[in-house]
Formats: sequence, C-alpha cells, structure tokens
Amino acid sequence: MPCFPPGVQQNTPTFAVNSLLITNGRIIDPASGTDLVGDLLIIDGKVSALGKDVRAKAPKEIQSIDAKGAVVCPGLIDSHVHFREPGQSAKETIGTGTLAAARGGFTSVLCMPNTSPAIDNPATVVLVREKAEKSALINVYISGAITKGIEGEELAPIGSLKNAGVVAITDDGHCVQNNELMRRALEYARMFDLPVLDHCQDYALVSDGVVHEGYYSTELGLHGWPAIGEEVIVARNILLAELTGTHVHCQHLSSANSVALIRRAKERGIPISGEACPHHFTLTDSAIAGSEEFWKADGEILSRAFPENHPLPSWPLFDTNFKMNPPLRSHHDREALIEGLADGTLEILGSDHAPHCDFQKEVEFDYAPFGITGLETELTLCLAQLYHTGKLTLSKMIEKMTVNPAKLLRIEKGTLDVGADADVTIFDPERRWVYKRAESASKSLNSPFDGWPMRGKALATIVNGRIVWKEEGF
Ligand SMILES: [Zn+2]
Repeated sequence: MPCFPPGVQQNTPTFAVNSLLITNGRIIDPASGTDLVGDLLIIDGKVSALGKDVRAKAPKEIQSIDAKGAVVCPGLIDSHVHFREPGQSAKETIGTGTLAAARGGFTSVLCMPNTSPAIDNPATVVLVREKAEKSALINVYISGAITKGIEGEELAPIGSLKNAGVVAITDDGHCVQNNELMRRALEYARMFDLPVLDHCQDYALVSDGVVHEGYYSTELGLHGWPAIGEEVIVARNILLAELTGTHVHCQHLSSANSVALIRRAKERGIPISGEACPHHFTLTDSAIAGSEEFWKADGEILSRAFPENHPLPSWPLFDTNFKMNPPLRSHHDREALIEGLADGTLEILGSDHAPHCDFQKEVEFDYAPFGITGLETELTLCLAQLYHTGKLTLSKMIEKMTVNPAKLLRIEKGTLDVGADADVTIFDPERRWVYKRAESASKSLNSPFDGWPMRGKALATIVNGRIVWKEEGF
C-alpha cells in the first residue's frame, strides 16, 4: 500500500499542482515499447497523453517543463532500501531517505523490514505507513519479515502482514537458515500471493567473513566471505521455488556462479529472479587494499571513461565504506553480473541503500557494520556500467528499474500508459558531475564513491504529477 507524498512544490504552480506538460523529451517506456521524442501531458496526477502533437491538447495555463535532450521515463523504482525507521533514525529517516531517493530519480522504494523493532507484525507496518504519510516525498512500499524478529526461528504472521499492506516478505540483513522453515514461508506466501525476497547467505560457510574470500582476504589478513556462501542459498531457493511454485527473488547477487545458477533455473521455467547492485558491478575486492591498488588491478577500465585530467578518486587501505554484505568480489564476478544483466538473467537493479553513522563506520574494518548508501549514485553508475559501455540499451536498463520491479512487487507502477499514475523521472544520460558525499541528502555519508566523476544525472522527479524534486536550474 503506497503512502503518497505531501507534495512538495518547488515553484508556485499556475495550474493544478498535479498537472504538468513535459515537452521535447525522449520518452522511453519499456512497458509499452515506447521510444519517441515528444511531449507528455499529465492531468490530475495521471498520464493523460503522450506523443508528438500532445501540447495542442494541454490547457493553456498548465505548468510546463522543457525536457529537450533529456530522457523522460516511468518513475524509477528501487526495490531494496533501508530507511532505518523505526529505531535508528540517527542513520536515516523516511524523510531524508526519500529526499535522497528523489534526488536519485526514484519515485517508489521498497523498505526492508530489519528495523528496530523489525517489521514483523501489523502494528509496525501501520507505524511505518503513518510515518511515511507524514514525511515521505515519494511512494514508500513496505516489506515484512519472513520470521519473527528476523531471527529465523518462527514464521511471522504473513497473512496479517499482507492485510496491513506489505507487498513482499524478506529477512534481508539475515537469511533463513532452516530449509524447512523457508519451505513453509514459501507455501504461506503463495497462499497470500506475496513475492519472497531473500538475502542469500549460508551462515556456516560465511562465518565471520568480512571480505570476498580470495587473494585480497589472504593478503590483507581479513576473514573471507566465500562466494559459495551465497551460491548454496541461491541453489536452495531455486529448488524450493520449483517445489512450491512461489516466486523467489534473490537480492543483491554478487557471484558469477549465482548468476549461472539463476540462468539455468530460468531456462527450466522456475519462478526465480535476481537483483544486482551498482557497487557489485562497478567495484571489486581490490578496493579494500586502497585506491592505488584498485586503479592498478581492476579500475583501469573505469578510469578510461573519466574526463581527461580528472584526478583519480583516492581512499586508504581498509576503508570501511567499501564494506558491504555480500562483499565486493573479483573482476570475474563483476563481469559475470554485467553479463547477467545484459542477457536478461538478472532482471532488477537495486541500490541496497544502507546508511550508517560515521562513528559506526570509523572503526577497525572487522568491527564496522556492513552497508553503503546508494540512492543518489545508482542511476549514474548503472548508466556508466551498462549503457555507456554499450551492454544495454537505455530501454533495457530502464526496464530493470521500472516495469520489472513493479511486476515483481505486483504494484501498479512502472509505466507511462495513458491513465497510469504520473510517476515520472527526467534524466540526462550525458550530464557530467562529481558526486560528493558531504552534499548528500541522506543522513549518512557512507558512500565509497566520494569524488567520483559521473556521467548521467536525474533532473526532475515527479510523483503523481507533482514535482517533488528538481535539479537547480532545470
Ligand atoms: Zn541484504
């Protein structure tokens, strides 16, 4: 159940605040196969018309935006964010998190349930909905826990969670280890028509691992988090999805073998899908050894795309802004994720936006929490690694951020069909800028991409026909 934004309006409207004419943009709507240069007319929060001669139909006094040279697409959806409310509002709130999302071009997000307390009962769902109704700039969807307290012991009340408005269940941050319990969760989820999302991590295999098990874990003397620790659970999920017929979506996949497992399972028609996050297909584990090592070992291909004379971003050895779960993996894994996105094996892009306070991250590597922020860099990193490299067309990339997550979550979003909610993102795929985490809208600054030159940027974010954020000067 979405919580609609209060409608922050940056300009005084000359017409109804949720009516708008966007002219001269390249309108890309993968859901309908649309890709044309033209206008998009929004009346009363709904898409009213799109095409070449639409402006003739627009009321005279309507507010208009010139999107010449920019892409106009369905509002981006991120199916993997942590907004930390309730319980950890020092890290992020729904207000700050949704502003970061709006600045990144997102009109809808799915919040993970590993809050404090966890979203494992209807009362907490209602609490989060009420907070979102008061402070969210964009649509906030909520996922519920699979197990009580995300402890993996006892099933949460899945039917009541659905009735309270969750659109999916997951124990993200944790992983249900008991296969029998997971089987029952899938059987219940099927009864309630809820997709199941899973953070794939076998606790025994991963143990206290903090970085990818490989050359750098050995060289740096850090405990390894082996790829097999993810792959075993992906394989388990494939078998359980086949047995129960329930769709299982594997979150933030990091390893080449996980991609291969999903590819083969999909060929057999098993209801399984996979998500990739920009950090996993941009960075590698060599980043833990510091920037010098990264640029030398695995970063040359990235730095070649930077503007001439731009200094290479630098960071020290053991920088905890490069610590996330699952960890950054090898060059080979990074390539396999991109290949999986390119051939359609991985259908969804997500940020796993996971804010943490400085004082928590500024500790020894072993003790720092896993996770990085990602909403403000997701679109531009996807453009850099998938579109500007020629691996995906814009339409194919946008599909993984709009209609595909909408289908997974069974929400009526992700399209610009006439009559659809007017959630729209306008972005310039070419605009050059530099990401500075100190300027982030998020309450937390734990991004590894500080000082990175970027290519491509959101210019305006429109929710139900209202401009909730736009770039200065646009
Ligand atoms: Zn996770």
